[in-house]
Amino acid sequence: MLYFYNMEKRLEQLPKLAAEAKKENLKYFTNLKRKTPKNLDYVMQDLHEAEFKKTDCLECANCCKTTSPIFTDKDIERVAKHLKMKVAAFTNQYLQRDEDDFMVLKSAPCTFLDTTDNTCFIYDVRPKACAEYPHTNRKKFIGITDLTVENTAICPATYNIVEALKKSLPMVSNKKIRRK
Ligand code: SF4
Ligand code: SF4
Repeated sequence: MLYFYNMEKRLEQLPKLAAEAKKENLKYFTNLKRKTPKNLDYVMQDLHEAEFKKTDCLECANCCKTTSPIFTDKDIERVAKHLKMKVAAFTNQYLQRDEDDFMVLKSAPCTFLDTTDNTCFIYDVRPKACAEYPHTNRKKFIGITDLTVENTAICPATYNIVEALKKSLPMVSNKKIRRK
């Protein structure tokens, strides 16, 4: 597993590392779906916690810089209220509908990211998708493995968590050993 202490270097290397690991990761998760260990969510929660003890999101913010969270109706109401704006005015100013019919930000990096220190102007009321990203500690993790593989190219912590998972729960080959 590759850990880089310098976040800039980690982010620079990430797309290449994620692309190289993608095929193996997809195959690994296909097998894991066929035979999902009962304790998978607990293993993931431990790996998630261990990784975020080492990775400081304030040094990174790559998710906020490069992708948009989905804004649910509740998110929109809560953030608009916080900004003392009407829902329609907030929506018109900041959001657009994507090809999957979800409301997302019009621009990246996120309008609410303070690029001087990577803090979020609306942290206490941020969208649920922001609060839960990168979802590696969520229940029924097995349902979001495709999304997780995609996230390995965006989130250096997710990349490391998946690498650690493959070591923690190695793929067991179904091949029988031939007796001579
Ligand atoms: S969740 Fe991942 S991509 Fe987002 S700031 Fe933290 S480490 Fe970076
Ligand atoms: S709302 Fe905050 S946490 Fe969410 S993407 Fe924007 S800056 Fe990041």
